Amino acid sequence: MRIGVNHGSLAERMLFTYGDTPEGMVESALEFIRICESLDFGNIVISLKASRVPVMVAAYRLMAQRMDALGMDYPLHLGVTEAGDGEYGRIKSTAGIAPLLADGIGDTIRVSITEAPEKEIPVCYSILQALGLRKTMVEYVACPSCGRTLFNLEEVLHEVREATKHLTGLDIAVMGCIVNGPGEMADADYGYVGKQPGYISLYRGREEIKKVPEAEGVKELINLIKADERWIDP
Ligand code: SF4
Repeated sequence: MRIGVNHGSLAERMLFTYGDTPEGMVESALEFIRICESLDFGNIVISLKASRVPVMVAAYRLMAQRMDALGMDYPLHLGVTEAGDGEYGRIKSTAGIAPLLADGIGDTIRVSITEAPEKEIPVCYSILQALGLRKTMVEYVACPSCGRTLFNLEEVLHEVREATKHLTGLDIAVMGCIVNGPGEMADADYGYVGKQPGYISLYRGREEIKKVPEAEGVKELINLIKADERWIDP
């Protein structure tokens, strides 16, 4: 059973008492929980979704505190409801869900965007991956580029991603120069780093493996991953 506190007469009474606030949402949820417990029913998941991120975040944080204080241990289902669509819908969902997960609050998540339901799933995976909670795709590290950048970073990152995005569990860095690139690759498994005009260096971890012409960079990166038996065909 999932308890949502956005509707219903009990919620309306709470709204009258507490206003439309995190405190009201939490008190309402607790009252529903007490009803379930009085009926000896504990198979519940608690959801305190709101369409405003600060309200949603505050409600879950308060709920987690209150449940701790009351010795309750019910799973929390996180989500920003009615987040909208497109880039902003995804940012809004992430802005609500991610800080809670980072604090260890939340057991299930739902990204609710006004698009086909299957489009919600990659956003959930990305949130979990970015927080280091699940690794279901390649983690790319890429520098923002600057005056030292020795190749078209955006283009090369796109090429590297297209060639390797089907792999799982790897960290691959694309860095514009060897001045700062190797030190900033955040312990990536492989690095593609600008060496000198027209040439890049491939790294395995912190070790420079070989210098190759830029035109062969992506192919040689794939060969390196293959040599390490970490490649699978798409
Ligand atoms: S790694 Fe090199 S090219 Fe990239 S931002 Fe840093 S200094 Fe610039």
